[in-house]
Amino acid sequence: MNSAANVIEAIGKTPLIRLRHASETTGCTILGKAEFMNPGGSVKDRAALAIIQDAVGRGALKPGGVIVEGTAGNTGIGLALVANALGYKTVIVIPDTQSQEKKDLLRLQGAELIEVPAVPYSDPNNYVKLSGRLAERLAKEHPAGAIWANQFDNVANRQGHLDTTGPEIWTGTEGKIDGFTCAVGTGGTLAGVALALKAKNANIKIAISDPLGAALYSYYTSGELKSAGSSITEGIGQGRITANLQDAPIDLAYQISDEEALPIVFDLAEHEGLLLGGSSGINVAGAIRLAKDLGPGHTIVTILADSGARYQSKLFNPEFLRSKNLPVPAWTERKPSIKP
Ligand code: PMP
Repeated sequence: MNSAANVIEAIGKTPLIRLRHASETTGCTILGKAEFMNPGGSVKDRAALAIIQDAVGRGALKPGGVIVEGTAGNTGIGLALVANALGYKTVIVIPDTQSQEKKDLLRLQGAELIEVPAVPYSDPNNYVKLSGRLAERLAKEHPAGAIWANQFDNVANRQGHLDTTGPEIWTGTEGKIDGFTCAVGTGGTLAGVALALKAKNANIKIAISDPLGAALYSYYTSGELKSAGSSITEGIGQGRITANLQDAPIDLAYQISDEEALPIVFDLAEHEGLLLGGSSGINVAGAIRLAKDLGPGHTIVTILADSGARYQSKLFNPEFLRSKNLPVPAWTERKPSIKP
């Protein structure tokens, strides 16, 4: 019988999907790794599993223990999924700017959700720092103890991608891959995949696709962490070099605006059947730029990080988009053309 012993075994082994329009316009083969097909609906299931397995392996996470994390949502959803399957509790600290869909999902999963104002990392009340302090307190108070997942600086995160996402991309393309790009939240995906691919073939080009408002495009092009502008995308946009990003072999950097990424998201939904979140739009836009830089005939892989259903109230909401002066999907304006 071909079955999984539990939901955890269903994490990973996602398909690579050819992106037709992106491939045709560049003359390259552009493939998206369908991470939205993970059981928790995002690429972060892999990091959550790797972090929990590492903590259990080190003896830090005890049976019935608590997992505490500061997250834009997807890591929390992944942690709650793995925790629920294995009998741990989850406490999530989330900035109040994140989509209602992700917050609702975390509550449905039974996670303890603490919404806090979104303040910069330099502020002691930043959600990441708050979650670290909370974990320290719960480690003393809770009978089974608590751990801080610490996805940004816990390199078990990128190790998970080094062990799974990267090798899956290598075997999925039969080694015929010339470039890889994605955006960075923690950097676990980009660094882990980059390290795995470079170990197989040092000529594979690795590019970071950075949204406006993040500081990494500036860092990888000028050595300085500087940011300007903003993005409605969630889960990405980093202002510092996290431990996961340290020494990541990154060759190229692209800065992608929402105006460039959103039409791609809308187009993939309407013409290719792929309903994706905003970070996937940044990733595919970056893959198109990388394809243009490498020239026709190359194979580029990127990450389809999560589903657009997670952002219905924002990404596919014409009122919200108009309030931000952003492009609106054409079909949201269309009246039904067929009478019953
Ligand atoms: N896209 C989405 C939708 C995410 O939630 C995240 C993680 N926060 C990322 C991309 C970035 O992944 P990573 O943390 O591995 O850099």
